[in-house]
Amino acid sequence: MKKLVCDRCGKELTEKEDVEIALEGQWAWEAALRAHGTEPRGVLPCENFVRCGGELKVVTDNMFVRCYRWLTKPPSQ
Ligand SMILES: [Zn+2]
Repeated sequence: MKKLVCDRCGKELTEKEDVEIALEGQWAWEAALRAHGTEPRGVLPCENFVRCGGELKVVTDNMFVRCYRWLTKPPSQ
């Protein structure tokens, strides 16, 4: 499962439809930045871009990562 996370404020976009729509618009954001001579860090500007200046990055949230975290969690006493 893919989600988008802001690299500055941590805002997440987790709805499958939202993520798909965002990824479809990715080229436009990249083209706009490259036109200004800047390399995009993420795929889209954050919803709070004006305040945080962050970009949304794709994070893959899969079962393996969740199981690994659970298995490596220190036992609670
Ligand atoms: Zn942000």
